[in-house]
Amino acid sequence: MEYINSKKRVGCVFCVRDLGGEDEERRVVYRAGHSFAIMNIYPYNNGHLMAAPYEHAPCLTRLTDEILLDLFKTTRLCVEVLRKVYNPEGFNTGVNIGAAAGAGFEEHLHVHVVPRWRGDCNFMPVLADTRVLPEHLDVTYKKIKAAFEETGREEQRQKHFAHRKPDSPAR
Ligand SMILES: [Zn+2]
Repeated sequence: MEYINSKKRVGCVFCVRDLGGEDEERRVVYRAGHSFAIMNIYPYNNGHLMAAPYEHAPCLTRLTDEILLDLFKTTRLCVEVLRKVYNPEGFNTGVNIGAAAGAGFEEHLHVHVVPRWRGDCNFMPVLADTRVLPEHLDVTYKKIKAAFEETGREEQRQKHFAHRKPDSPAR
């Protein structure tokens, strides 16, 4: 099971609620109230993120409305941030529930957010088997983390305006 981190909790890489001090080494790029965003260290594509609830649950049916809303807001933020950083032409976002559906780590639900470019699928089988160099992941981490912080500040500012314009439709 390649996801498992050798340090500390051997069990679950998505159980990070109380591990705030380890965000950088665990590649956690954003934290919300009930969910967080984390880099996939074996990405299908550049910038592959995952949004997950803190709750250790294998399926959507085990999550409350409150957690689901928070999780999907974090997913939306992942799309927003990746659009800023990588300017992709599209996204795949989705949840694999159960090993039969392709979940590489099925005990703790997570939403994949994969930026896509036309023609990139030709390279995906290669990328999926290639370990990205740690240096590269460090650069990616810093870039994405900074974009989350910047986006968070913008949202805070926008909340101060009474007549906030509705979000622009997705391109
Ligand atoms: Zn877990």
